[in-house]
Order: sequence, then structure tokens, then C-alpha cells
Amino acid sequence: ESKKSGRNCSTLFIDKMATEAAELLKLERDISNAIFKDEFFFVLQPLISSVTMEVTSAEALIRWQRGDTIVAPNDFIPFLEESAMIIEVGDKMLTKVCEFLVQLKQRGLLTASFKIAVNISGKQLSEADFIDKVTTVLRKYQIAGHYLEFEITESVALDNLKDTINKINELKQIGISFSLDDFGTGYSSLSHLKDLPVDKLKIDQSFINDINVDKQDENLVKSILQLAVNLGIVTVAEGVETKEQVEWLKENGSMLLQGYYFSRPILPNEFIEKYLISKDEVTTLSQR
Ligand code: C2E
Ligand code: MG
Ligand code: MG
Ligand code: MG
Repeated sequence: ESKKSGRNCSTLFIDKMATEAAELLKLERDISNAIFKDEFFFVLQPLISSVTMEVTSAEALIRWQRGDTIVAPNDFIPFLEESAMIIEVGDKMLTKVCEFLVQLKQRGLLTASFKIAVNISGKQLSEADFIDKVTTVLRKYQIAGHYLEFEITESVALDNLKDTINKINELKQIGISFSLDDFGTGYSSLSHLKDLPVDKLKIDQSFINDINVDKQDENLVKSILQLAVNLGIVTVAEGVETKEQVEWLKENGSMLLQGYYFSRPILPNEFIEKYLISKDEVTTLSQR
């Protein structure tokens, strides 16, 4: 009896593994095809100044148009990162963002203080010719470096700290700014922060979630905000979803806010329409 169900169980298990392996294979094949078919695109999410409540910049977030469905980065970036494909896809993203900046410039919608933030994977940053690639694309599209910001995570930054610091400094020379993404989720965050020449610190959404609920998270975010002030680094609160969070963050000095409360990531054309042409959207939202 128990032997029989055990056999059934393991047959099911093997079936399940076979199915998963087949799906994985298909996913990997589809991803490499997606590069050739140019199925990756980006959406934009605004960053809002907590002081003026105006949109100061936007983060470009990658999406994959896989047939009829739009796939979120967490479901394919890990596969790209395992192979060298992340480099190709990352380069392409940067090109697409530059093309978009050119479009804004030509339409007279690009103000000097606006920026687009691009997420940069560790594999990209550690490439020997990363800086060459960046300067080449900026020159090709005639875009000044200050229109770009690169988001890196702590794990990437600490991987090869010395090389990272050198590269950041070199790219900062051409005007590109840097932010440390998902701050607080890595380890030894505080000790290395003073060595990293980043301009912004993005407090991970997991801490922002509970600022009005959990006293510990509230204190943690307060001390991160204080630390950033002391280091002269601009803070960004990620994953802001409620009015209460906005009020708390304003009061406690988070300089920039990003999250569904203001906007989900939207298509570039929609972003232009909402935030660069009819600029009153955020004010309307924040007055809800
Ligand atoms: P991230 O850079 O920390 O991006 C923030 C993520 O939080 C985005 O998810 C965004 O849609 C989501 N988010 C924003 N506001 C809210 C909110 O109020 N509530 C909640 N629950 N979520 C919010 P997304 O677009 O799925 O991106 C996930 C991650 O994928 C990014 O995290 C980033 O690490 C990575 N990623 C995205 N685009 C790229 C890219 O072009 N290159 C690389 N290497 N990684 C990318
Ligand atoms: Mg990011
Ligand atoms: Mg983040
Ligand atoms: Mg994240």
C-alpha cells in the first residue's frame, strides 16, 4: 500500500521535473531568440521630489514581449545573468534609452535636470570595455552624460570594490550619476557605503512597506535617511504605495519618492504624455 503510493509519488515527481526541465529549456531557447527578434523593451517609472512633488527623473525597467504576454525582469534576468546574454541585452537597453532621450531632445521636452536611470548588472560593469561602450553610445547619439544615471546593487559594487570605484569615478567624470539600488538588502551595507562614490541611495521597498506599521522598520529607515544626510547622499524611497508612507517620508526627509502611489511603470509614450507634456498629473495624484 505505502510502497505503491510511494512509487506513484516518485513517478509524479519525475514527471514534474521533466516538465520543468522542458519548460526551462524552452525558456532559454526563447530568450536567445528574443535578442534576435528584439523583443525587449523598457517602461518608465517616475521619481518624484518630496519637496516640490514634481517628477525629476525616471527609471527604465526592462520588459520582454513573449508572444502575447509581457514578462517581468525577475522571470528572465537571472537566466540572462547566468550566460553572457545580459551584456548584449544591457547594451541594447542603454541604446534604447539614448534613442528615447534623442526623441525628447528633438521634441524640445528634455530639460537639463531630467535623467533616466538604467539598471546595470554586475557582468556589464565588470566588462573591461564597459566605459568605452558607454562613451561610444553617448557620442553616437550626442547625448550628455548627465542625462543618465546607473543603478547598481550592493552585491555588484562589493564584488570587486576597487574596480567598481574606479569605473564609477571615471563615468562620473563624463556626468553620469550613480545610485545604489535595493539598499539594505545586501550585507555589510554601512561599512562600504563611505567608500562607494554613489550620488543616491535607494532604500529597498521591503523597508518602506512597513514604515507606518513596524517600529523597527521605521527606526531603520530613519537611520538610513540620517546616514545619507551625513554622507551627502540623496535618498530615494522605493515602493511607495500609500499616502501615509508619502507623508512619513516627507516628514523624515526622504528626498525622492518612487512607487505605485504615483505611477506604475508605463510605456515611454505614455510617460511623455503624462509627465512631460501635461505636467499636472503628479499634483493631481498627490492631492487624492
Ligand atoms: P529595481 O531596480 O529595484 O526596480 C524596482 C522594482 O519595483 C520594479 O520591478 C518596479 O516595477 C517595482 N515597483 C515600483 N514601485 C513599486 C511599488 O510601489 N510596489 C511594488 N510592489 N513594486 C514596485 P520590475 O520592473 O519587475 O523590476 C524588478 C528588478 O529587475 C529591478 O529591481 C531590477 O533589479 C531588475 N531590472 C529591471 N530592468 C533591468 C535592466 O534593464 N537591466 C538589469 N540588469 N536589471 C533590470
Ligand atoms: Mg533599479
Ligand atoms: Mg530597487
Ligand atoms: Mg529591487
